[in-house]
Amino acid sequence: MCLTENDNLPLKQFIYCESCKLPPTGYLVKKKGLYYYKCRTKGCSCNKSAKSLHTYFAEDLKTYQLDPKYKDIVKDVMTYTYDNITKEIRTQKKSVKKTITELSTKIESIEERYALGEINSAIYKKFKDKYERQKQELQSKIENPTLNSSNLELAIDKALNLSESLEKIWLDGDLKQKQNLQNLVFPSGLGYDKSNDRVRTPKVNAIFGSIPILSKEISNIKNGEPIPVNQFSGLVIATGFEPVTVCLEGRCSIQLSYATFIISFELIDL
Ligand SMILES: [Zn+2]
Repeated sequence: MCLTENDNLPLKQFIYCESCKLPPTGYLVKKKGLYYYKCRTKGCSCNKSAKSLHTYFAEDLKTYQLDPKYKDIVKDVMTYTYDNITKEIRTQKKSVKKTITELSTKIESIEERYALGEINSAIYKKFKDKYERQKQELQSKIENPTLNSSNLELAIDKALNLSESLEKIWLDGDLKQKQNLQNLVFPSGLGYDKSNDRVRTPKVNAIFGSIPILSKEISNIKNGEPIPVNQFSGLVIATGFEPVTVCLEGRCSIQLSYATFIISFELIDL
């Protein structure tokens, strides 16, 4: 029996056979009431019980779970990191805004000169059109806003709340929630290698990927010692934390160019 969408096979579109790179099909052994994932390739013997594959996956997920006692420091580091790498974007934006203001002044000025009869309508129109066009081009450039500080705090809070109970959310969630979480944490899926019976996640969303690294560093800090936020931030960036765009109609996301790190409120509200 071939199964498409099934609550018992949440990894179906997400997992792939390491040797064939193809997603498996699923089937049910009715007699035993057990589900299996099976590679689609003829002759490939990649075949695994859903129950044990799910255990592997849940264990893997658990390594990215945040210990609540580290939450405040991790939050500080994430906020600092985001702030730091968007500084350049914000500086550029400031200079574009300044140019827009200058263009508006120029437009006002030629309007005044035209009204006073200092220039004729052809010249007035020519320059007004030119300035308006430049203004529009610049405005479209700054329409991709970066997160402002309150949105950022909310987004990071949500992501960290999620990371405190990754395993539980995956185990208790419905099919859609499971799939959303899988894709959020591991944007390029999960490989299963039959030869060594192991799962592998080639890409980890940087916010989650940073957690085990930061937690290890934080655990080494002795009581009363200062927290090297700057140094920790470097570790986060090394995992691929690099935001580029944000916020569409109230739905905010931090999108990272190569790390595919996406905090979307839609996904976070699992
Ligand atoms: Zn295969």
